[in-house]
Amino acid sequence: MTLSNNILKFKEVNKSYKYRIYPSFEQEKYLIQSIGGSRFVFNQLKGLQEFLYKNYCYGNSIPEGYNFNPFSKYITQNYNTKLKKVFLWLNDIDSHNTMRTAHSFTQSMLNFKKSGFGMPKYKSRHNPVQSFTTTYIKVIDGKLKIPKLKETIKMKYSRPIKGKILSGTISKENNKWYVSINVSKSIITSKPKTGKIVGIDLGLKDAITCSNGKKSGKIQLKFFDNKIKILGKKIANRIKDSCNWSKTKVKLAQTYINKKNYIKDFIHKITTKIVNNNDQIYVGNVNNQLGLKNKKLAKTTADQHWYEIKRQLEYKSDWYDKKFKVVNEKYTSKTCSNCGYKLLELGLGVRTWTCPECNSKHDRDINAAINIQTVGTTGFAFSKTNIKLVD
Ligand SMILES: [Zn+2]
Repeated sequence: MTLSNNILKFKEVNKSYKYRIYPSFEQEKYLIQSIGGSRFVFNQLKGLQEFLYKNYCYGNSIPEGYNFNPFSKYITQNYNTKLKKVFLWLNDIDSHNTMRTAHSFTQSMLNFKKSGFGMPKYKSRHNPVQSFTTTYIKVIDGKLKIPKLKETIKMKYSRPIKGKILSGTISKENNKWYVSINVSKSIITSKPKTGKIVGIDLGLKDAITCSNGKKSGKIQLKFFDNKIKILGKKIANRIKDSCNWSKTKVKLAQTYINKKNYIKDFIHKITTKIVNNNDQIYVGNVNNQLGLKNKKLAKTTADQHWYEIKRQLEYKSDWYDKKFKVVNEKYTSKTCSNCGYKLLELGLGVRTWTCPECNSKHDRDINAAINIQTVGTTGFAFSKTNIKLVD
C-alpha cells in the first residue's frame, strides 16, 4: 500500500469491541440488578413524559417550575437524583449507569422532537436483549472491571482494545452475557486514492448493484425466517411457562440474533469493499423508485436493510475521506443510460429491457446504477436536461 501521493490524515472515531463475559453467580446478581435499575429509571422518565404530555401538552402550558424544556439534560438528571431519594435500592447500583440512562432518554426525546419518529417506548423485562451502559469501566489483565464490583469479571478477551475507553454496555442476550466497549480511536483516514467512481442501485433481487456491473446478490434470509416461523408455531402449541416453552423461546431469540448478525456482516463486508475501491460513491434513493405502498414489498424492503447500507457507506466514506452522496433522481430505472430515452412505464418484475431509441440492451439494475453515477457526477439527469452524453 502506498500513500505517497496522499497526505496522511487522522481522525478520531468511535469504535466498539464486543466480548463474551462470564460473571460469577454473585456478579450476575448485581448485573441483573443494574439492568433492572436502568430500566426502572428509563420507565420512570417515560412516565413523566407521558404525564407532562397528557396534562400540559408540553410547551402550551407547562406547570410552574417546568417552564423550560422538560427534557433538558438538567431536568432528567435532576429527576434521576429525586428518584434515588425515594427508591433507595437505586443507590446500590452504579450511579453512572442511571446517569447514562437519563442521558440516553433525553437524547431519544431530542431525536424524536427533531425527526417526529422514534418516540421512546417503555422498556420491558421480556425483551430478548437486556442491557445497561456505564462509564469508568476498565480491562485489567484481560478481565473486565466495572464500578461497584470489587472482583473483575471473566472475559473472552479475543482481540486487544485500541483506543481510549468511553463506556461499556453490558447485555444479556439469550442467557449469555456480553460487554460492548465503546472507544475513541485515532485512525488513518486517507486510504490510497483509486481514481474510481461508482453509482449504486439498491434493490430487491440484488441488495447492491454497481455501475461497473458488479452485484452483491440477495441477502438470503429464508433460512432464518423459516426457522422463526417454525419456532413461533412450536411456542404457540406449548404450555406457557413450561420447560419446553422456555427452551423454544430461547432458541427463537437466538435465531433473531443470528439473523441480525448475518445481515450486519453481509453489509459490513460489501460496504468496506466499495469504500476501499472507489473515491466517489453515489447511491440512489430507493423510496423514489419503489415507494413503500405495497405491503409485501415493504417487508422485503425492510429485510434488505437499505437504510443500513447507506448508513455504513456514509460513515465509512467519511472515515476514509471519500465522497458520498445520495442521488434523489426519480427515473434512474426507466431512463436509457446510453441515449437518455425515458420509458413511460417499467414494471417492477422486468429485469431486462431494450431501448426503443438506440437499441441498447439493459440490465434493469446496472442501467439504473449507471444513471445514478451520471447524476452524481454531472448533477444532470438525462430525463431533465435531454443532454446526450457521448463518449
Ligand atoms: Zn437508448
